[in-house]
Amino acid sequence: MIEVSRCQNSRIDTVDFNQLTFGKTFTDHMFCCTYDQGVWQNPRIIPYGPITLDPGAKVFHYGQAIFEGMKAFKDDHGSVFLFRPDQNITRFNKSAQRLAIPEFPEALFFEALKTLVDIDRDWVKAGHGHALYIRPFVIATETGVAASPAGGYEFMILLSPVTAYYNEKLKVLIADHYSRAADGGVGFAKAAGNYAAQFYPTNLAREKGYHQVIWTDASSHEFLEEAGTMNVFFRVGDTLITAPTNDRILDGVTRKSIIDLAHEMHLDISIRKFSVTELMEAYHSGDLKEIFGSGTAATISAVSAFGHKDKLYTLPEVSDPYADRLKHALQDIQYNRANDPFGWRVIV
Ligand SMILES: *Cc1c(COP(=O)(O)O)cnc(C)c1O
Repeated sequence: MIEVSRCQNSRIDTVDFNQLTFGKTFTDHMFCCTYDQGVWQNPRIIPYGPITLDPGAKVFHYGQAIFEGMKAFKDDHGSVFLFRPDQNITRFNKSAQRLAIPEFPEALFFEALKTLVDIDRDWVKAGHGHALYIRPFVIATETGVAASPAGGYEFMILLSPVTAYYNEKLKVLIADHYSRAADGGVGFAKAAGNYAAQFYPTNLAREKGYHQVIWTDASSHEFLEEAGTMNVFFRVGDTLITAPTNDRILDGVTRKSIIDLAHEMHLDISIRKFSVTELMEAYHSGDLKEIFGSGTAATISAVSAFGHKDKLYTLPEVSDPYADRLKHALQDIQYNRANDPFGWRVIV
């Protein structure tokens, strides 16, 4: 049973839902659950607020921390839906295993999600672009600077009302020196440290006017893998290409959904390695029509230009781009404006 203590006064009236900075505003409540003595215990929903940790907590020293990112949507009749939450808990536990963190029970994850989102359902706004971003995460809380996995953890879920993430088209830089992930590493896991490690190279790209880096394989920098927080798709002629997942690439739920939608829409889609050389050839021959990124926060974000080795390549404007068609099809399912043949919506 999840114990619920509600806040005294909701902060909802202080929030302008049309002027949100992504991920800065949190709802009234949060979910917490503690791992101690080998069991997840004391699941509770409490008012959102700071937590107290010992400065010796292992998360500060060895970075044992993983997270998930998912969304809830409200339809025009006020019903609230989660999008494919089963995918997130499965991935969460894969990440947990890789970081030597105890897995979180699936049934409790669903119960926590539904109870928390239901309590704060007024924070989910209907209408285009509005969504509730959901951030489950776990941190190692046991005190001690010995380098070993912690014996104690805190699992939490935070909720943040959001509007569309990127409003403009993206300029991306293809990595030719730094890497975000290596073979046998943690690139496939949603490990907090994966982000820390890409901030510096991303800042260097920003100084040159790019929004994000497209990461390439660490050994040859020849194969295009994914962007900072997004998987990436290339349209060459009428074929959509995306890299197969491996232990360097995050297995995105949005990516998976796009692949299914593309099949359903009879778009030609090819899941295969795609090289910088092929990209350049396609660009120069005029066959490169689109590049876009996919992720929960960003949904589908079109790329306007890419950089490689100090040169900028601007993509042509295409009519009725695949990015828009897929985005609309995805959002129609998320906002309950279309049938859900895949069973992706889960009502709260
Ligand atoms: C979360 C994430 C994605 C996108 O995954 P979704 O499940 O679609 O949100 C892509 N790449 C990285 C590195 C990520 O952390």
